[in-house]
Amino acid sequence: MNTEKYQILLENELSLITEELKTLGVQNPENSHDWVATPLGTEEGEADENVSADKAEELEERTALVADLETRFNDTTRALQKIKNGTYGMCEICNAVIEEDRLEANPSARTCKVHREEMPV
Ligand SMILES: [Zn+2]
Repeated sequence: MNTEKYQILLENELSLITEELKTLGVQNPENSHDWVATPLGTEEGEADENVSADKAEELEERTALVADLETRFNDTTRALQKIKNGTYGMCEICNAVIEEDRLEANPSARTCKVHREEMPV
């Protein structure tokens, strides 16, 4: 399989995701798969209760966004690792070659079409 075009797609995707994650949080220095949302603009002197409530809500939103991006970040990293290992494009459940059109739609797909709902952990 020609993995070159997927590698380019994945690398672009990864840098976009990383940029987005950096605006929302920080990468855990002890675990590169883990991102932690940070509150936006934590300035001193904003003890107002309404402000705190807003901030808590906002942090919750950011945490949800980070969780979503983190999954994509890890899937993309994993796919790039597989290209390196020479196992890219194989279903993680049945080892069949993943359909080309599936990879085109989602270069970080981990399973073939048959097993798309059964994502291994
Ligand atoms: Zn499969």
